Amino acid sequence: MSLEVALFPCLSDNYGFLLHDVKTGATAAIDTPDAKEIAKQCEARGWTLTEIWNTHWHPDHAGGNVALKRRYDCLVRGPQQDAIPARDITMAGGEYFEFAGHGVDVIHTPGHTDEHIIYHIPSAELAFVGDTIFALGCGRLFEGTPDEMWNSLSRIMALPEATKLYCAHEYTLSNAKFALSVDGQNPDLLAAVADAKAKRAADKPTVPTTVGVEKRANPFVTAGSAAELGRRRTLKDNF
Ligand code: ZN
Ligand code: FE
Repeated sequence: MSLEVALFPCLSDNYGFLLHDVKTGATAAIDTPDAKEIAKQCEARGWTLTEIWNTHWHPDHAGGNVALKRRYDCLVRGPQQDAIPARDITMAGGEYFEFAGHGVDVIHTPGHTDEHIIYHIPSAELAFVGDTIFALGCGRLFEGTPDEMWNSLSRIMALPEATKLYCAHEYTLSNAKFALSVDGQNPDLLAAVADAKAKRAADKPTVPTTVGVEKRANPFVTAGSAAELGRRRTLKDNF
């Protein structure tokens, strides 16, 4: 496997991600929270940005597109929303493309936004999931319904359990507080919280998480139904 992922903090609590193929030098930024930081991280590694893959239109995910496109003339893939600047290729979910010979499946995961998409690379056992699922949490339902989010989480949970999920924010400890309030007896949740606390105490990211961990510990997955997910999402919004 010739793919490497670089992860670095951006803005207040976002992560920037660079996906790099060591054989060809191809480098993709998954979302563009901060153009300057992304360019700096590329330069520090001697990488040249060749692509941008957006998950959704929010400015903390697409706000760096124009500056990075200007600097690198990279190919920009993203959903159909008008608010994705500098997009070259529209992706709605259901597409397959190759990145330096590695197959990428695009999956539509509405809920946080209507056109939210994620990028799954089966051969690397990883997915860039934007603001759909977080470690022990899920995205706020700004545009979608509990039904849509439940279906989206179910699609992610259908991926192999070892799949690493690169979530776009470091929200895990605050998600953990809410998760414990609704499912505090769940041993898998307790283990995941202990693990997250240890990582943060050592100043390490809790991202990526995995499908296997979230399947058993994430309160929006263990909700078991769209209705219960919706109830928990409302509780969390007011937590
Ligand atoms: Zn968002
Ligand atoms: Fe976000």
